[in-house]
Amino acid sequence: MIDYQAKLNPVARDMKPSGIRKFFEIAATRKDCISLGVGEPDFVTPEKFSRAGIQSILDGKTQYTANAGLMELRKAISKYLDGFIGVHYDPASEIIVTVGASEGLDAAFRAVCAPGDEVLVPEPCFVCYAPLVSLTGATPVAVKCHIEDEFKLNPAEVEAAITDKTKAIIVAFPNNPTGGVMEKADLEALVPIIEKHDLMVFSDEIYGELVYNGLQFTSIASIGNMRERTIVLSGFSKAFAMTGWRLGYICAPKPVMDVVYKIHQYGIMCAPTAAQYAALAALEESFKDDFAEVKEMRSKYDERRRYLVDRLNAMGLTCFEPRGAFYAFPCVKSTGMDGEQFALALLDAKNVAVVPGGAFGDSGKDFIRISYAYSVEAIKKALDKIEEFLAEIGK
Ligand code: PLP
Repeated sequence: MIDYQAKLNPVARDMKPSGIRKFFEIAATRKDCISLGVGEPDFVTPEKFSRAGIQSILDGKTQYTANAGLMELRKAISKYLDGFIGVHYDPASEIIVTVGASEGLDAAFRAVCAPGDEVLVPEPCFVCYAPLVSLTGATPVAVKCHIEDEFKLNPAEVEAAITDKTKAIIVAFPNNPTGGVMEKADLEALVPIIEKHDLMVFSDEIYGELVYNGLQFTSIASIGNMRERTIVLSGFSKAFAMTGWRLGYICAPKPVMDVVYKIHQYGIMCAPTAAQYAALAALEESFKDDFAEVKEMRSKYDERRRYLVDRLNAMGLTCFEPRGAFYAFPCVKSTGMDGEQFALALLDAKNVAVVPGGAFGDSGKDFIRISYAYSVEAIKKALDKIEEFLAEIGK
C-alpha cells in the first residue's frame, strides 16, 4: 500500500483548508439555510458584457489567445487604469490577463518569494494569502489590523514586524473581511517604511471600485516612486459582477512581468478566450456610459451596507462601519462566544450561515463576517433571525 502522506508535498499536505469552505460544507447539508456567507455579487453579469462573451464563441473565437491575453483587452485595461488609479502600464510588456485575481496572486507570489523570505500579511485578510505564500517556501508573517485603527495597517506595527528576511508586504484594501480602507494619507505613512526596508508590495485592488461615503480609492502604486516596487492585482469579479468568468489582471514593471509571464505561460497558457471578450466589452461599454452598471451596483451595496450596519449596532453587535468591499465584520464577544461558536450556534438555532472571523486569521476570532452581496430582503430575513437568536440567548 502506498504511504500517501509520505509521498505528498508536506507544505501542501499540512495546509489548513479554507475556514470559509469548511463552514459552508456544514451549512450545505442543511435544508432552507439562509446564507450571508458568500463573497460574490448576487447580481448577474450585465447582459451587454455576457453577450459579447457568448458572441465570441458563436463567431468561432474558440482558440487560445496570446499568453498575456488579447492585446485589445490589455490596451483597454491600461486605459482603464490610467483613469482609475492614475498609473500607466504598457499593454505590451506590463499587463497580463489572468484567471481571476487569484491566479495573479499565485503567480506574483511565486515570481517574488523564495524559501527563507518573509512576507508581511495584514490580518484579518482574504484566506489565500498565507497558504499561497507558504507554497513558495517563504514564510507569511501576520501584521494585525485593529478595530481601533479602523482595520488599517499601523505603520509602527508594520515596521516592528520587519526583519532582515522581509521581502515584501501585502496591501489589501478595501479589505475582505473587515471593509477597512487605507486612504491616500494612510498609504503615504507606509511608504517611507517600505522604501527604507526595500520591500516589494503586492497590492490586491479587487475591491478598489467598491468604496463608499464619497471615498476615493488610492492605489499604493500611484504614490511617489511606489510603481517601481508594486505589483497590482485586480480583476472583473467583484465590481463588474463577473466571478464565474474567472478574469483578472496583474500589472507591474517589465522585469517583474517577464518572470510572471513565464509562470503564467507554463501553468495556465492563457485566460479563457470568451471571458476575455466579455471583459473587453465590460470595459468598452463602461467607457461609453461612464461605468453606469458598476455605479448602479455600488449604490445598491451602499444601501444594504447602511441597513446592515445600523441593525447590527442596534442589536448590540458592535460593528465597525465598513468603507469598502461588501462585508460587515461585527464583534460577537459581548455574547460570551467567539466567532466560531457564535456561527455554529446561530446555524444550529436559526439556520443562518455567516463566516467565523477566525477563518481570516487568528486576530479575527472574536468576529463574524457577514456579506451584504445579497438582496435587502435576504439580509432583512437573516437579521430578524439573528435578532431572535440574541434575544433567546439573553444578549
Ligand atoms: N482578493 C480578494 C481580497 C478577494 O476577496 C477575492 C475573492 O473573494 C479575490 C482576491 C479573488 O478574486 P478573483 O475572483 O478575481 O479570483
